[in-house]
Formats: sequence, structure tokens, C-alpha cells
Amino acid sequence: MTLSVEPIRTLTNNYAFLLTCPAANRAAVVDPGQAQPVLAALKAAKLQLEHILLTHHHPDHCGGTLELKQHFPGARVSLHPADAGRVDFPVDHQVREGMKLDFGGVAIEIMHLPCHTRGCVAYRAETFLFTGDTLFTAGCGKFFEGTTAEMQNNLERLKKLAPETMICCGHEYTLENLACAALADPGNQALAARLDEARQRAAENRFLVPARLELELATNPFLRLDDPGLQKSLGTSGEPATLAALYRIYYQQNPPA
Ligand SMILES: [Zn+2]
Ligand SMILES: [Zn+2]
Repeated sequence: MTLSVEPIRTLTNNYAFLLTCPAANRAAVVDPGQAQPVLAALKAAKLQLEHILLTHHHPDHCGGTLELKQHFPGARVSLHPADAGRVDFPVDHQVREGMKLDFGGVAIEIMHLPCHTRGCVAYRAETFLFTGDTLFTAGCGKFFEGTTAEMQNNLERLKKLAPETMICCGHEYTLENLACAALADPGNQALAARLDEARQRAAENRFLVPARLELELATNPFLRLDDPGLQKSLGTSGEPATLAALYRIYYQQNPPA
């Protein structure tokens, strides 16, 4: 493994992620909602910014892009074409499903996961997966521009990744999400244990992101739609109905059909 990844808090509850290739003093950043905290981290480690990787067009994920470009004009901005026309800065790489970017010899692979927005992507590099607002720790993003079936398909794809994958998501919603998860899936012991541990870590001001996919598979109800215990407690049968019921619990509204 050659990559190191550092979460950086931005705005009120967002995460940007700083990726570094120690050998080459090169850096990439995922979702800089704000430039200043990212610039401070780059300066402290004397890094050159090479990639600005945007998961989608929302300002809390790309608001720092222009300012970063002013400091690092050589940094290349990546965004999916479906979202690229909706931002006020130029996009250098229109990234699509299956494309790979090179970062100091490390491949960054693109997964197109439309639903939160039409152009939502996840970036996968070594064992890290940057999911933006598609998959959260213990939760799932809002279906602003897609259907329940689209999100179900996205979740199916993410479930199949290696269990040691580190889920690096765009917001710190872990505790709120775990509380919703516990309502939906009260019989899940692993979930109860995670909630206890997460409360303790939050009390110590520690980040709860990233989290291993293995833990998500055991405790995130959005990745457990086929679980009989979850379906029983929700009174649902089948994965689409279970996903819709979870959405109502998390967001107190019906999901788009
Ligand atoms: Zn968003
Ligand atoms: Zn967001």
C-alpha cells in the first residue's frame, strides 16, 4: 500500500479527504467544500496538489475548488459530465463509469452511482472508497435526482467490494444514522455495540469516518435490505419495500418511486 488518506473537516459537518503519495510529495483532494482547511494541510506537509476529485456538484463538496485552483493551477478537476455543467469552474476530467485516473502510479477508479444527483460518482483507490453523499457511515444519501431502484442498484454494487474497503463519506452523520438504524433494526447486536462505541469515540472528539465496509455490512441497514430480521422489524417483504421503509425512517418522507 502506497497511499495515505487523511479526513479533513470542512463547513459544519463535511469531510474532505487528502490523499498523499509519500514518495512523490503529491496530493489529491476529494470534495473540498472549503479551501482553507485543505490549503493548511497541504502547506503543513509541503505537498503539491495534483487532483481535485469531486463526487458531485453540490457546493458543500466543491465550494473550495476555485480557490484551490488559484493556489495550484496545475491541479486537475474531476467531475461526472452529468454534474459538470452545474458548477461555476472548469472541469478538466469528465469522469465516467470504469475510467481510471493516475495518481503517482496509484489507479483511481470511477464508479458512476446516479441517484443523489445524476452525476454522483465514487472514487476507488487501493482500499479506500470515496462515496460522497451516496453511501454514508450507517446510512445512505437522499435520493434527490433518482429512484429507489437506482439507489438499490448502487448499494448492490458497493456491497460487493472487498470487506476491508474503507468507506470515506462526505459527511459526519454517523451518530444520527446509527440512531435511525437502531430504530429500524433493534435486534441487531453488532449495531448496538457500534452505537455504544461510536458515542464513546464522539465524546472523545474522534472522527467516526472512515469506517470499514465489513462493519457497514453488519450494521448499516441500507446494505442489509435482504436481512430477515430487518424485514421483520420493518414489516416489509422484499428489498425495494425495505429500502423505501428505511428512507422514511431516516428522512421522514417517502422516497421517489
Ligand atoms: Zn450532496
Ligand atoms: Zn453533502
